[in-house]
Amino acid sequence: MNTKHRNKNLSRRNLLQLGTGLIGVGVAVGVGSNLVQPEVATPQNITEPDEALQALLDGNDRFASRKRRYGHQSYSRLQEVAKGQKPFASILGCADSRVPSEIVFDQGLGDLFVCRIAGNVATSEEIGSLEYGSLVLGVKVIMVLGHERCGAVSATLKGEEVPGQIGSLLQAIKPGLEKSKEQPGDKLENACKANILVQIEKLRSSPVLSELIKSNKLKIVGGYYDLDSGKVTLVS
Ligand SMILES: [Zn+2]
Repeated sequence: MNTKHRNKNLSRRNLLQLGTGLIGVGVAVGVGSNLVQPEVATPQNITEPDEALQALLDGNDRFASRKRRYGHQSYSRLQEVAKGQKPFASILGCADSRVPSEIVFDQGLGDLFVCRIAGNVATSEEIGSLEYGSLVLGVKVIMVLGHERCGAVSATLKGEEVPGQIGSLLQAIKPGLEKSKEQPGDKLENACKANILVQIEKLRSSPVLSELIKSNKLKIVGGYYDLDSGKVTLVS
């Protein structure tokens, strides 16, 4: 209902114009001022989706191999990004306290545009946020990041009654369960991975995001975080 209303008032062309305009402003603010360059070589000039994905994977390698650089966490970086943001990647991750995006990808202030929600499900609000991240802020890769032993997916598998609004999350996770129920192996792991793919499909159904993908400005990928090793592997 909300989506319809928004679409009436703001056509895709208008949105794209808004995006271009705001990206322009962001770049001018970020690059044109006499700012102290951050001392750590976290990717600065990422222009391609593949470069953005590689930067995420490299950061996770550093994290998992205990070689973190803690880049972009200085006070000068704080001052730099106070003037504007140009994150290179978005993460649609689980709210699980053990999977904090900036830490597991070894990134800092202004690097990641993060949406976290139990079960990493793509609700319309999350999709709207990610559309903003890519269209307006210029994010080049969106990673849907699920993880090992996800409590939300596990609860959906068990099919128990849940209080409050928790049920709305489980409802959003069910399609992944359906897709994975015939697969051999660990049921919970299969369901977590299938859920990641289902949420990616939801994101791809966004006209705003699919337009960016078509013009090679954006990539959407799935990642699965191993709670024991800290390693993210791509899911496809
Ligand atoms: Zn989880």
